[in-house]
Amino acid sequence: MSFMGLLLVEVIMSVEEPEGGYSLEDTVAFAKLAEGYIDILHLRAADGDLSHPTGFNLRPNTTPYIHYTEAVKASGVKMVVETAGGYLDLAQCEKVIASGHTDLIAMARSWISNPDFGTKAYQGKGEDVVPCIKCNKCHVDKLYGPYLSVCSVNPLIGLEHKIYDMIPLKTESKKIAVIGGGPSGMEAALVAAERGHKVTLYEKSNTLGGQLKHADYASFKWPLRDFKNYLVRQVNKVNIDVQLGIEATPEMICTENYDAVFTAMGSTPIIPKISGVAGKNVIFAENVFGNEAALDENVVVIGGGEIGVETGMHLAETGHKVVVLELQDKLAADATAIHYREMFEAAWQKLKKFSYILNARCTEISDSEVKYVNAEGIEHKIEAGSVVLAVDTRAKQAEALKYYGTANQFFMVGDCQTAANVQQCMRSAFAAASRL
Ligand code: SF4
Repeated sequence: MSFMGLLLVEVIMSVEEPEGGYSLEDTVAFAKLAEGYIDILHLRAADGDLSHPTGFNLRPNTTPYIHYTEAVKASGVKMVVETAGGYLDLAQCEKVIASGHTDLIAMARSWISNPDFGTKAYQGKGEDVVPCIKCNKCHVDKLYGPYLSVCSVNPLIGLEHKIYDMIPLKTESKKIAVIGGGPSGMEAALVAAERGHKVTLYEKSNTLGGQLKHADYASFKWPLRDFKNYLVRQVNKVNIDVQLGIEATPEMICTENYDAVFTAMGSTPIIPKISGVAGKNVIFAENVFGNEAALDENVVVIGGGEIGVETGMHLAETGHKVVVLELQDKLAADATAIHYREMFEAAWQKLKKFSYILNARCTEISDSEVKYVNAEGIEHKIEAGSVVLAVDTRAKQAEALKYYGTANQFFMVGDCQTAANVQQCMRSAFAAASRL
């Protein structure tokens, strides 16, 4: 029995199953049979991971699953057909709808990162859409505490029920200094400026972006690059005094009589205790990006966490032969488990010049090779003219605390408190700046 006319009936289904299951042709046949019984047919990719694509398996402004809806529509069915798969860019959405290959576009993450996505779409404010970085952390419950949902780019998600208690009313306009133009510094500056404070943002390099600037280089980090560019765009749009190329000192902040100072100075890589680690052929992962050509053809990356693997993948994509040494028994163990790590793994497995060794403890670095001990305690060596360190980072807490007392209020945000990912940087910056 159809409820058409009374309420809409939508069927959501994978358009095909992995090998051995039903096919696109079967779905087309189903659509014909369902004609008159359902109003909307929402077609998803073959499995859950693929329906939540990441930078690893989605290229900017591509439409990986549009051929599914195109095939169903070409069969002549009259029901509304809907596609899904990483859509966010408003211009791209317009183009896809105009193509006639789908009637609707389903989105979830775009609305998590932008609860006002509909308003922005209606008003044509594509440049203000906050890019979802496709990290899929919003799918992971309990990892971040039992009471909260998380979104890497939207610090308010999951807090809607208490937001008015969390954010006090502004009582006076203050003079604010933010030190560090990475994601947490930019977010603190934006929130403070939006609350009507007079903000000066100091960044010692000549560009904003901090650690996110690395996303300009790796092919699969484009969602993060888009997010960084969005933050920079917003900072330049609102009334923030951006001081590039200026290393703020505690004395300078003191002299300027700021009401509050935010330290967002980030973290610094840790140097592991390995013989030869101070060699000229050893480089930190953060210094690889933009300097790829200076590295030898054979590279060993020490540290197989998310950053080490991404750096190794980027080097493999730029022509280097890369071996990642990981102390634990799993590569990229810190990557988001749901709808992310599998796509990450599929991407590194595709790279012919990328390999890794687990349970490997590096013992010595020389100009031309790296020695390591495996799980059985047996020593091996690998040819390597360049060695990349991706072990861990140290929060620049001591550096940040030098500004304590230079203004009436002092805040540490982002990973100068403790090692933090984008989600933690954004949340700590928002939480501090929204209390001004
Ligand atoms: S948590 Fe990540 S994937 Fe989910 S909506 Fe936010 S930015 Fe996008």
